[in-house]
Amino acid sequence: MKIKTVQLEITGMTCDHCARSVEKALTADGILKKEVSYPRARGRVTFDPARIDVTEIEQLVNHTGHYHATGITEYREKEDEAGSKHLVIIGGGSAAFAATTEAVSMGARVTMINDGLPIGGTCVNVGCVPSKNLIRAAETLHKANHNPFKGIHTRGRLEDFKTVIEEKRQLVNQLRTEKYIDVVKDLPGFRLIEGRARFISSTQVRVNDEILQGDAFLIATGARPALPDIPGLNEVDYLTSESAFELEELPESLLIIGGRYIALELAQMFSRLGTKVTLLQRSDRILPDQSPDLTDALSSYLETEGMNIVTGNNFQNINQSGKLVTVETLVNNRKQTFRAEKILIATGRKANSNNLGLETAEVKRDERGFIQVDDYLQTSASQIYAAGDVLGANMFVYTAAYEGKLAAINSLSGTDEKRDYTALPWVIFTDPQVAGVGLDEDQARANGIKAETSVLPLNYVPRSLAAKDTRGFIKLIRNIQTDKLIGARILAPEGSELLMEAAMAIKFGITVEQIKNMFHAYLTLGEGIKLAAIAFHKNVAELSCCAT
Ligand SMILES: Cc1cc2nc3c(=O)[nH]c(=O)nc-3n(C[C@H](O)[C@H](O)[C@H](O)COP(=O)(O)OP(=O)(O)OC[C@H]3O[C@@H](n4cnc5c(N)ncnc54)[C@H](O)[C@@H]3O)c2cc1C
Repeated sequence: MKIKTVQLEITGMTCDHCARSVEKALTADGILKKEVSYPRARGRVTFDPARIDVTEIEQLVNHTGHYHATGITEYREKEDEAGSKHLVIIGGGSAAFAATTEAVSMGARVTMINDGLPIGGTCVNVGCVPSKNLIRAAETLHKANHNPFKGIHTRGRLEDFKTVIEEKRQLVNQLRTEKYIDVVKDLPGFRLIEGRARFISSTQVRVNDEILQGDAFLIATGARPALPDIPGLNEVDYLTSESAFELEELPESLLIIGGRYIALELAQMFSRLGTKVTLLQRSDRILPDQSPDLTDALSSYLETEGMNIVTGNNFQNINQSGKLVTVETLVNNRKQTFRAEKILIATGRKANSNNLGLETAEVKRDERGFIQVDDYLQTSASQIYAAGDVLGANMFVYTAAYEGKLAAINSLSGTDEKRDYTALPWVIFTDPQVAGVGLDEDQARANGIKAETSVLPLNYVPRSLAAKDTRGFIKLIRNIQTDKLIGARILAPEGSELLMEAAMAIKFGITVEQIKNMFHAYLTLGEGIKLAAIAFHKNVAELSCCAT
């Protein structure tokens, strides 16, 4: 079937609600997709020209009486033949799996090529799953030894580190089988090849001794740990997030280079299991992209637990001296030396985009090696799309899966669906957790938004008081002119569980006033969101129980 896309210039819209009304009006047999934007005064409609024509589409808008289609650009006509197409996916992680299931549901034939990490890629093998499992194990031990209730005695002990690692392996194997291998094994038209793929032209890939011809391609090769340029690093036996979860013995002491989410999650995990951890960060703060109130508070909680955090390092060299690894560094121009049994490098991620034949396929990368795509996830080569960590932004498993699915749709059907990261939530699994969505106060300012923040320390949240754990705060950011919530930053034990209320509010334009007027169950952590909303205008210290 042929499908066509047109762009309409639309007058008369005064708000987002108008745009939704125009979208509603654009309902008719033959219209496959519509997207109307109030700020751009524009709409984009994809349709089957055998069932409806451009004039009829124009009339649908004009018949509303309020809105008028004043100009039309006809700019795309494609074959929608997903059913007979072959999608070749390079990579076997979350982006690749989401693309596979979507493409197969569209009737396409899919070949997935994976090499390097086992099938399932980073998240299940060396990322989300093992890290969150071991973080929980370490937290269980820590909590047993730091129970805040004086009348109750608990004591925890790391009995057998090997068994903790073995249980983690079992979970990884189970989820790799259930959530990846079993999901695709019986899919019609699906084939998995183990091997390293390389483009030999923009429509052909070589893997092992085979040459595969595709109608569309997806590069979903992910990323790997990036290594900093520090003299001597290559001479020592360093750990990364790909090897740290496989240690058979708990190190007595550990140096961690890095200060972002992977470094922090692993640092606290090892520290809580009993390793003496020193975290060395180049910037002058951990999580340098976050606001100082948040990073200062987190630093102090981690240090209180016994971690040593040293920021502002200018690394000089790394070497092995006997059984210990030594790091020589300048901190505020003063030479300092740190020693530990092991060293772990967690200084960011690097694209798996080398040796893929991208120059031959005419796929462009940015200066860091990440693949460049447009809003539809299309690379500079029209039939080649890319998704997931190899793009270098929003490196989460749920965005990888979202992009994989979208790339499958856009590459196989004629539609152009734009990627949209509105209200994207993110979490750092330290304890207290760091969670965020939308803009913080600095980002709001940089975007020219008049914003106001409300910061509620957890000692105002009854749930936290009852649990005797009031570490952290809830920060809400609102647009002063519209009263809409535009961001949230949460530092709280299990704070990630609060995130989705804020994300929903941001996505659907809910105001602080509306949040204040919602019932929030007492005593829940979620009540903290309501209290933080109230705190924009009132002193919460003066409220009675069950805030109103
Ligand atoms: C320690 C850690 C913890 C994390 N925790 C979380 C978390 O809690 N929540 C969250 O949302 N995200 C988390 N992430 C991020 C998440 O794991 C990634 O964003 C996600 O897995 C990326 O998926 P992907 O499909 O893009 O790439 P990957 O899963 O990396 O898959 C790419 C696959 O392609 C293979 N490959 C590479 N080159 C080739 C080639 N030439 N030919 C064939 N195959 C190739 C790779 O070996 C790999 O198997 C974590 C990451 C790490 C490292």
